[in-house]
Amino acid sequence: MSKRENKLDQLSALFESASKVKLLDSLQRAKGNMEQAANIYLEETEKCLEKKVPLRQTKLELFFHDTSNSETLKSIQGDCHAGSKEQSLTEASREGQIPLKITSLNEILKWPPLSASKTKAKPKRNVRPVLRLYHAHDVAERTQCTLIHDVLPKDLANSLLKVMLEESETWQRNQWWLFERMVTSSHTASFYTSTEENKTYDGEVYYNGKKTESARAFLPEMEIARRAIRDIVNEKRKGRDRHEFEIQEYWNPNVAVANCYSNSREGVGWHSDELTYLGPRPIIGSLSLGATRQFRLRQIQESDEKSSRIISITLPHNSLLIMWPPTQELWKHEVCPQNVLDHLHPIAGSKRINITFREFREEYTDEWTPKCSCGIPCVLKPVMRSGPNNGRYFYMCYAGRAREGQNCGFFEWLDVSKRQNDYERKRLNLLQKQKNKSI
Ligand SMILES: [Zn+2]
Repeated sequence: MSKRENKLDQLSALFESASKVKLLDSLQRAKGNMEQAANIYLEETEKCLEKKVPLRQTKLELFFHDTSNSETLKSIQGDCHAGSKEQSLTEASREGQIPLKITSLNEILKWPPLSASKTKAKPKRNVRPVLRLYHAHDVAERTQCTLIHDVLPKDLANSLLKVMLEESETWQRNQWWLFERMVTSSHTASFYTSTEENKTYDGEVYYNGKKTESARAFLPEMEIARRAIRDIVNEKRKGRDRHEFEIQEYWNPNVAVANCYSNSREGVGWHSDELTYLGPRPIIGSLSLGATRQFRLRQIQESDEKSSRIISITLPHNSLLIMWPPTQELWKHEVCPQNVLDHLHPIAGSKRINITFREFREEYTDEWTPKCSCGIPCVLKPVMRSGPNNGRYFYMCYAGRAREGQNCGFFEWLDVSKRQNDYERKRLNLLQKQKNKSI
């Protein structure tokens, strides 16, 4: 296949309903640059429709800047008043906006609308309020998650909370570029790697297009909690169907992202967790300690009114929320800023500590991750939109997150089966070599 045909194929995959002639024309005018070609195509479509419908977003560079969405910005700047019925209704009405005819790359890949908050769409008549869930059986019924209360022995939960509160004094706020401005997250976070499992991951980690500070080692209390949570998750997993491409063997968390929400105003906007090092369909075990907060979920699926309802799960101290696959592919989640907390925690006060246990997979380390022309590892993303590309994964340039306007437009589909086979072959070769040496 020629380079041009390959690029045309990629564009067709992104703009499924577009005619190949138009896409080829855009590609030629952009002299083969994919990002420009997509922009030209979008601008042309925009011109055709601008008198008929308002546009949400058509600029590709914004798409490239954005791996969360405008709601991240909104959540950081504003307050969505979790728990207030009236505000919850407003939230739900924002979800139910009338779909626009225009498609941007953002919509095609099914990130949430970029400028939804600016669009004055009429709210739907049948607005559905946010659904608050407290009980494990309701969470199991309505989501792809499992909620477990009082998951750790009481003393362990309390001592873990105490050491993490101390640790959190030195955690950082994340920063990235969004809509041509630098955004800083309201909460602080840090990345930890298990010393017991360090053979699995000891490389560098890129987040928001830049190298993170070196991973910190799990504290002893974290290791104990890791083992307990690992066993509980694997036990719960026995009764569940395995998805293609998820880890088939024992789930063995080897890293954790720890977050601290100091007060009710700190939160994190709608996003799904990055797949770059986790691979497709990850399992994430999210432990909550300290102040009780609302954790919101909403399903990403176009033209499906029912699924767009926001679900808010109450996460008290010492609760575990297991996000089973394909939660990261089909749902977004957020921790919404609140005006007030229901009550303060006796140890943590208004602070919530969240430890998310994850497994970095060997076949998704930097060694296997393509680098774009910017020289940094790409980000791995799923296609969230339903249609022929649903269920596929792709790599794209991640540099725009760290440096304004710098993005090389790199795009590459991931062949998951091929990756698994290549990895398996390499692993067996290494084993054979070791065996030969020892003979
Ligand atoms: Zn790049």
